[in-house]
Amino acid sequence: MEDQDTQPPEGGSGNVTRDPLSRAVPVDNPEIGEILACETGAYLDVRNWIGGWRYEQLIAQRVDIREKLDGAPRFRCPLCGVAVYLASNRHKRFYFKHQVEDGSCPAQTRHPLSAEEILARKYHGLRESAPHRRIKALIVRSLEADPQYASVQVERQWRSAHDPAARRRPDVQAAGPAGRLAFEVQLSTTFLHVVVARRAFYRQEGGLLVWIMGGFDPAYRRLTTDDLLFTNNSNILIVDEETAAQSEAARRFHVRCHFRRPERDGDRIADTWESHIVPFDELTADREGQRCWHLDYDGEAAAMRAAIEGELRAALFAFWIGREPDTRPDKGVRRAWAGLRSSFAGRGIALPSAPDDDSGFVALMNGLASAKEGRPVGWHFKHLIEVGHRIADAYPQHVAAFGHALLYFEKAALVERQDRSGKWKRRRSAIRDSLERGEPDFRPDPDSLPVIGFVMPGVEEKLTKLMLKVAA
Ligand SMILES: [Zn+2]
Repeated sequence: MEDQDTQPPEGGSGNVTRDPLSRAVPVDNPEIGEILACETGAYLDVRNWIGGWRYEQLIAQRVDIREKLDGAPRFRCPLCGVAVYLASNRHKRFYFKHQVEDGSCPAQTRHPLSAEEILARKYHGLRESAPHRRIKALIVRSLEADPQYASVQVERQWRSAHDPAARRRPDVQAAGPAGRLAFEVQLSTTFLHVVVARRAFYRQEGGLLVWIMGGFDPAYRRLTTDDLLFTNNSNILIVDEETAAQSEAARRFHVRCHFRRPERDGDRIADTWESHIVPFDELTADREGQRCWHLDYDGEAAAMRAAIEGELRAALFAFWIGREPDTRPDKGVRRAWAGLRSSFAGRGIALPSAPDDDSGFVALMNGLASAKEGRPVGWHFKHLIEVGHRIADAYPQHVAAFGHALLYFEKAALVERQDRSGKWKRRRSAIRDSLERGEPDFRPDPDSLPVIGFVMPGVEEKLTKLMLKVAA
């Protein structure tokens, strides 16, 4: 399989002289299609790389690559990790060759590898790159400076305590006050499946896998960085010269943490980026999720979101309970409604353009607000049970929502007490049977589900289930 040497002769002669100022030309179908640049940790497309030089430049490169081959090779084969050098065929077309050709490299034998195998090999190849070695050394320096950490080891096997066949080789490992730690240096390339597989291994081992990057710029993030960022509670850990020096000075392992901080912007959440150097032992470790962080972004954002939603829910009910039905809304009321509409629209929930526009919506809101208050709201009834009958009579598409509202706001017992004749009880069971049979009579109105789900979290799913029942 020597494409390198079987190019048809150009110009028909046995040899070719290239113009030194012309573009260098790669062979058409190189065995080694990609090389790992050891200095930067980047993967380069061989044909693009070769074609990017003038002939005279590439010849100089060729000499330099050859000279460094035995000491600190500039390029390696991503699939087998063997150093590679630049060769040329008799047509002065270029390609890369392994330093050692023993037929073991899948690129050489053209042995088909699965995409996963290729990724795994490339991942291991990155361990040979200079930035990777540099960051690894900085982690070791930082850990060894801190007496809390023992057994600091580089590239040693971590054998599974559960499965003798399972093992990993983390970049750095150590035993700390909170258990065993595995550190992996994350460089540029995407290996989400590697990230996922590793998390599972260390979770089972009761250890903690910590991803360390060499640098981070929140404004310029690769997808791979985002994979780490969003699986680590929006915190990115960096070890660099400055943090290593600080670890040594304080005799305590420090890391630089970049994280998102959620901030409230009206009824939305906005993020700001922050970065601090913090002691590693002060990070919160989540072994189940294989995460560790300085600021609990997910927790704070969820609490903020819940607070915003709680306020919005309360505002809608306050509006509805305070509104005077059957009167022309004045300017203040119209403005308040417009504000609510816009906030709900921001959540993908459409409210009618005016509160009284849609009698079905009015009935629904009357029902929900009445159930919440335990008294009729929006209709001039005396008892909550009358609201139920009214909805069942005139707005059957909302009676299931009303029934769930009674449970949600814990007013079912109140209605039961008001149900002296037992009429509601009989009615309720007839409605339930009809819904169970999938009949259309009381089927919930799909358009009302988003707002119901918002004001009574968890109820939307139950109503959806009823809605999807179809008569046999
Ligand atoms: Zn190879």
